[in-house]
Amino acid sequence: MKTLVYSDSMDLASQIIAKFSAFGEVTVLASSRVAEGLKKFGPTAILSFDGSQSPDAVAGLMKAAAEKGPYDMIAIGSTTLGRDTAGILAGLMGFDVMAEIADISNDGGKVVTKRFFLGGKTVLEEETSSRIFTVTPGIAEPSEKGGNPSIENIGSGTSSVSVLEVIPKKTSSEDIEKASVIVAVGRGIGNREGIDKIRPLAEALNGVIAGSRPVCLDYQWLSEEKQVGLSGKKVRPKVYIALGISGQIQHIAGMRGSKLVVAVNKDKAAPIFEEADYGLVGDLYQIVPKIVESLKA
Ligand SMILES: Cc1cc2nc3c(=O)[nH]c(=O)nc-3n(C[C@H](O)[C@H](O)[C@H](O)COP(=O)(O)OP(=O)(O)OC[C@H]3O[C@@H](n4cnc5c(N)ncnc54)[C@H](O)[C@@H]3O)c2cc1C
Repeated sequence: MKTLVYSDSMDLASQIIAKFSAFGEVTVLASSRVAEGLKKFGPTAILSFDGSQSPDAVAGLMKAAAEKGPYDMIAIGSTTLGRDTAGILAGLMGFDVMAEIADISNDGGKVVTKRFFLGGKTVLEEETSSRIFTVTPGIAEPSEKGGNPSIENIGSGTSSVSVLEVIPKKTSSEDIEKASVIVAVGRGIGNREGIDKIRPLAEALNGVIAGSRPVCLDYQWLSEEKQVGLSGKKVRPKVYIALGISGQIQHIAGMRGSKLVVAVNKDKAAPIFEEADYGLVGDLYQIVPKIVESLKA
């Protein structure tokens, strides 16, 4: 089977290449600015393009590439731009889209996908004949298998969107999707100042701070890109420390891939303990300084 891959996130593109390589040849469409950097992930070929990455421009380029391929599957990274691109491409090509897949496999010639369902409470496993997929972050570990794929430049797409001004989003340099240690805080932190009090723990572990939806979205004690969960980032750190997080399924959906989970919560019945390898029942403001102290000892 041949797959055409696109994601405006290079990290997600590398994960999709790793996953879909199991099906056969993978051609990746990429902006000429990042095309060279994707070589190490071992796609069969790279189609680079110049100019706009707006969804209508990319969808037009993908349609032309797909018709020339042909490709059995088209896999698009589920980012804001990627989801729009998939919708436009589906309309242009007359295909349906299987949205938000978290896994895909070949079961004796049948393509089987997994997606979170009922707000993340369950996983839906489906046999599918869809040709276009949007793929959620965390689908596979990128593999730097190398090789020397050809890069063919296919020019630029046409977009009906004119960019009048670019206003950079306020972002933090800490990318929680790449962190190996995450100290995540929930509503139990109580207030914005509480974050400064747990910072020594993150620093002692060389980790980054993330949060649940109330902390990042409702109270904005942390920025939006620090949100872990169904509607936030999907993270897979080596260590995930959850402080004052109850462990609702929508949060768990974002940190389920963590290798080791430590939870601190004053409610011993909090569902987070079901996910935790180590659980500490008590007030996080008393427990965290003790952990920091013992790490320094
Ligand atoms: C469609 C949809 C999408 C969603 N997406 C997300 C998402 O992406 N991410 C996400 O996180 N949520 C998401 N949610 C919200 C989710 O359902 C929960 O409401 C949210 O995760 C709860 O956040 P929390 O654990 O921080 O707060 P709470 O549920 O209020 O839990 C706070 C916890 O802190 C504990 N606590 C309080 N004080 C202390 C203390 N001093 N020491 C120790 N423990 C203490 C309490 O016992 C409690 O367990 C989504 C919901 C919906 C409907």
